[in-house]
This record gives sequence, C-alpha cells and structure tokens, in this order.
Amino acid sequence: MKTILITGGTGFIGSNLCKRLIENENNSLICVDNNYTGSLDNVRDLLNNPRFKFIEHDIIQPLEIDEKIDEIYNLACPASPPAYQGEKAIFTTMTCVYGAVNMLELARKHNAKILQTSTSEVYGEPLVHPQHETYRGNVNPIGIRACYDEGKRCAESLFFDYNRIYGTKIKVIRIFNTYGPLMDPNDGRVVSNFICQALRGEDLTIYGDGSQTRSFCYVDDLVEVIIRMMASDDKLLGPVNTGNPGEFTIKELAELVKEKIDKNLNIIYKPLPSDDPTQRRPDISLAKEKLNWEPKIKLTEGLDKTIEYFAQKIKSEEKELMNI
Ligand code: UDP
Repeated sequence: MKTILITGGTGFIGSNLCKRLIENENNSLICVDNNYTGSLDNVRDLLNNPRFKFIEHDIIQPLEIDEKIDEIYNLACPASPPAYQGEKAIFTTMTCVYGAVNMLELARKHNAKILQTSTSEVYGEPLVHPQHETYRGNVNPIGIRACYDEGKRCAESLFFDYNRIYGTKIKVIRIFNTYGPLMDPNDGRVVSNFICQALRGEDLTIYGDGSQTRSFCYVDDLVEVIIRMMASDDKLLGPVNTGNPGEFTIKELAELVKEKIDKNLNIIYKPLPSDDPTQRRPDISLAKEKLNWEPKIKLTEGLDKTIEYFAQKIKSEEKELMNI
C-alpha cells in the first residue's frame, strides 16, 4: 500500500487528482485542505472510502502525520486572481512559501517524494513565446499578481534548495490554465465565468479587448501528466511545463461558449486588470520527451463536458434555493 498526501485536495485540480488516485486499490490517500477555495462537496463521494482520509488543515502551519507517507502532491494555494489577490494577498504568499517549507519538511521526515504544482505565472508577462522551461520570466515583483507569481517562484527555489541541501526527492511542474468539472462556479476565472454567465442568460464579461490569449488544458489531461511526473525517474526534477499548447484569444473563447450555449447572448467589455498577461502558450516538448505525454482533449470537447457539469451544478443550486 502506498500512502499519498495531497494538499489542496478539495480544490478543483486536487479533487480531480484524488478521484483518479483512489482508483488504484494500492493507494491510500490523505487529503489536506483548509477549504478556503476548495470544498468538501468535491470529495464527498470519497469520504466513506477506508482508503481516504480528510484532514482540515492550513499548510501555513506545520503538519505532523503519524503514518509513513510515500508521496506528497503539493497543490494547496488559491489560484484564481479574485481569490488570491486583494486582502488575501499576504495569505497567498504565505501559503506558497510557508506551505512549501512545511511540506518539504514533512517529505524530509518521511523520506517521501514531493511534487510541487508550480504555475505558468512564473513567466509573468512573457517576452518569449511560446514559453519554454528555460525562459526565466518577466514578473512584476510589486504588482497585484506578485503575491501568487513570486510566491510560486520562491516555492520553486525552496524545492531545489531542499534537493541540493538535503537530497529531498523533488518534482516541479508548471501548470498552465486548466478547466473542467469540479471547478467552482464562483471561481472568477474566464472559463467558469463565461459558461456560468451563458447558462444563466447573462452577458459574457470580457476584460480588456479580448485579444489576450490563453492555452486551456482539460483537467483529465492535466491529472494524467501530474501522475506521470510523480512516477518518473528520480533524476527528472523539472520544472516541466504542463498544459495544452492550443492557444485562443479570450474573444474566441467567448464566441465558442456563445455558439455552444446561446448565440444571442451579449458580450460586454470591462477594464483589464493590471499585469494581466498578454499571451500565454506552453512549449511542451519536454513533457512529450520525458513523460511521453501530450493533451488529448480538444477545447471544444472539453468545453462540452464542462458545460454539462456546470449546467447540473447550477440546476442543483437553484433547487436548493427553492427548498429554503
Ligand atoms: N477574463 C475575462 N473575463 C472574465 C474572467 C477573466 O476576460 O470573466 C480574462 C482575464 O482578464 C485574463 C483571461 O481571461 O486575461 C484569463 O483569466 P483567468 O483568471 O481565467 O486566468 P489567468 O489570468 O490566471 O490566466
């Protein structure tokens, strides 16, 4: 039996990862989350499984676990700009930095392998396109996104220092924009906003002129590469870009969502938040070469599955409201 600890386990990517890992009967999971942006609802179907344990804990604080841990996936951190900025900014950096130290200490104590989910945000406003892992980024260290971007950059440096100083077995991936079922409808990110707005018959809100680009990866593809990275040779430390290289403007995404849900919906334009990256696309040649991985699910197919998920979620929320 392998004991695997997942921080951020009730969040969007974390809960999808838990569901996939529990399918292997040799895995026993410890899911850790403070439920700030995650929700127990995302793992409710796992709570009765004897191979699944939930611990409510904030990784800013050290964590002690009695049973022997073999692997740690460190996902805990709010990841949506409205959730990680503003009054949560200091908390975000602390989650990245103290969280990394606490989880690296836990890994050291248990001699466990530890995977850090870093982010495409380490590239900031990229001056190189597409972004390869060797590109060192262009982050504004005093901007409103810095709490997340610099927090994640510092976490990467901590991971590599633990490896150099203590020989800790580390893995670092850089996740690009990801979407799919178990996203929070109120997450505030573009895919969840557009789909939920369209399903409710509201205007779609484009920030700026919609010419900025993002590359969207369906969550099942991402979970696959996270698990492959953990299972890879100990010598592969990363960082490895994980994302879908298909690049779309935000305007194109809005049109696609309209097309799928209701062609008559309006698009309205709102101010572009500061430091919002102009373009973003991963170079995934390293993941292809080392992990034999590339995404399989195209945006149009992934959006269909995500629309189905949000449609059900909105319906059940409306039912709940009517019962009150
Ligand atoms: N965005 C938008 N409308 C929304 C939410 C986001 O136009 O309702 C834009 C946002 O300004 C950014 C892009 O969509 O340019 C992706 O935003 P998201 O928050 O999803 O991801 P991130 O900025 O972290 O890549």
